[in-house]
Amino acid sequence: MEVELLELLKDLETLKRSLPDSSLHASIDKMRLRVDYVTNLANAAPARRSKVKDMSAEVVDTNPYSRLMALQRMGIVENYERIREFSVAIVGIGGVGSVAAEMLTRCGIGRLLLYDYDKVELANMNRLFFRPEQVGMTKTDAAVQTLSDINPDVVLESYTLNITTVQGFDTFMSSLKNKTFRPSKEGSGVDLVLSCVDNYEARMAVNQACNELNQIWMESGVSEDAVSGHIQLLVPGETACFACAPPLVVASGVDERTLKREGVCAASLPTTMGVVAGLLVQNTLKLLLQFGNVSPYLGYNSLKDYFPTMEMKPNPQCSNAACLERQKEYMLTKPVRDAAAKAKLEAAASVALEGPLHADNEWNISVVDDSDPDSIDGATSDALPEGLKRELPTADEFQNTPPAAVPTTTTVDDLEELRKQLEALNAE
Ligand SMILES: [Zn+2]
Repeated sequence: MEVELLELLKDLETLKRSLPDSSLHASIDKMRLRVDYVTNLANAAPARRSKVKDMSAEVVDTNPYSRLMALQRMGIVENYERIREFSVAIVGIGGVGSVAAEMLTRCGIGRLLLYDYDKVELANMNRLFFRPEQVGMTKTDAAVQTLSDINPDVVLESYTLNITTVQGFDTFMSSLKNKTFRPSKEGSGVDLVLSCVDNYEARMAVNQACNELNQIWMESGVSEDAVSGHIQLLVPGETACFACAPPLVVASGVDERTLKREGVCAASLPTTMGVVAGLLVQNTLKLLLQFGNVSPYLGYNSLKDYFPTMEMKPNPQCSNAACLERQKEYMLTKPVRDAAAKAKLEAAASVALEGPLHADNEWNISVVDDSDPDSIDGATSDALPEGLKRELPTADEFQNTPPAAVPTTTTVDDLEELRKQLEALNAE
């Protein structure tokens, strides 16, 4: 850019000399001053940070990963650096997908595959991530531009295509299968697919691809009135797929495309989309780095600050043939899985009997047996000074409250029941 600006200055000088009318010289001088100003701006642009070879836990201001690696020292994550091995595909780089991509980029994910066919518009500026100067760029290219500046360590792949077309779906499938990033990886080339699309057809395309590839994925959505949303984990064969439990629009026989009338558009809020993206990426980190509970379904009703959870089993009469195949495989491997789970439980129980691993306790961490609610008492390290009491119960106490008082988790076998629950959620 600097070279081009210098040439522009030379051209202006030549132009000035060739003009016989000196009254025009003043305006040419003004233009030269403006070029000087732009040159200074270009020179002052911050340099991009260089790539980091290993994630370090060193606590210095220049380390982009010190706060993330601290999760390991705090005992939340066993091996944070593993995040660099993972590939995540994000389908739909809109209000949820773009924010999810930024979060994963800042967390240092290994590789991100981004899919969208749309361009950035001024109408997107009520949401996070995209900037007005990116209007007209494809969403995937604009995202790569921003994300590669934020974290050059992440391998970014931009796919400007529509996965609901035959050709788009083929490219989508082959890109998911590509294993050049981690040739030794089992299964497909990605660890997780995140669906952040806004329509039924695209969700069905993601569902089809993931059922065929036996690929774990997460679905996300925000309601058309912008005040509620959800995330859902889909494990082919083990949980309901997107076709197992048809959403309301299909169940009631309404074609979704007729709902999008000319000049009428869905509402959207950066807040709800930010919350849903946050829930989605939190669930992603928990799944990939193996900490906490991974939610099978988590709803968000912002008007009531209500977060329902539920589990959905696959439908043995699902219309998707690949889903039925995955269900069969899952049932066949069940005895092996049950035996492994039992062995793991027994191993954990014997470790617990052996007593504490470390004699010193630098972080003052206390381990509480969650099978015994009485052990949560004032003796733990987070005891409050005399005269103060907690307004909110701790998460463990909350889980120990009788189920009647906390109607949060439901297992749904019956589709009719599920439909009623979704209707109730939307009506609230
Ligand atoms: Zn299914």
